[in-house]
Amino acid sequence: MKTRGIIGTDQQFPIGKIVCLARNYAEHAKELGNETPAAPVLFMKPASSVIGDGETVRIPSYSQECHYEVELAVLIGTETRNVSAADAMQYVAGYGVSIDMTLRDVQNQLKAKGLPWDIAKGFDTACPLSDFIPAAAVPDPHALNLKLAVNGEGRQDGSSSDMINRIPQIIAHISGIFTLNPGDVILTGTPAGVGQVRAGDVMTAEIVSVGRLVIPVA
Ligand code: MG
Repeated sequence: MKTRGIIGTDQQFPIGKIVCLARNYAEHAKELGNETPAAPVLFMKPASSVIGDGETVRIPSYSQECHYEVELAVLIGTETRNVSAADAMQYVAGYGVSIDMTLRDVQNQLKAKGLPWDIAKGFDTACPLSDFIPAAAVPDPHALNLKLAVNGEGRQDGSSSDMINRIPQIIAHISGIFTLNPGDVILTGTPAGVGQVRAGDVMTAEIVSVGRLVIPVA
């Protein structure tokens, strides 16, 4: 079982479901040629896809185009369903950094056929995920700088202030569909600048004052 801790405490959470938002930053939706959606677009990654800092992303043999997407991760601390946006933030235990690894060629082929994307997003190693800092240590989760570099070269540099759906609305929306349990994680979408990595590259993902991941690719 994969677990993640709250830094500075002895709290450990078994990772549950990982609910992800697609197209939650307008500039990123534009760079992929997608419409900006009216309601959040959701998909899930299994807990088996999680790896930690220093572990290696292994690109599956069925893809020739693996992309990085740095994202703010929200850890749920308390079970909730059908919560209002006004009450949603009390269920957040902490914040971390993640990379939503995506097999873009596979995803595009499946999307074109109207088929589910799971194998493009949920393969083993597709979810590098840091430990979490306590929610109370983040005064404003919508004022965070998200960065990703490949081999030391900056590729993504965005702000969580550009999210289309904000965290209280995201939790309210998701909890109206899926009960959220302690250890569930929400990936809140990626800013612009996504691109390809190849075997031998090293990604450094950072959310300033939240966390950092150094992840080789094989
Ligand atoms: Mg993403």
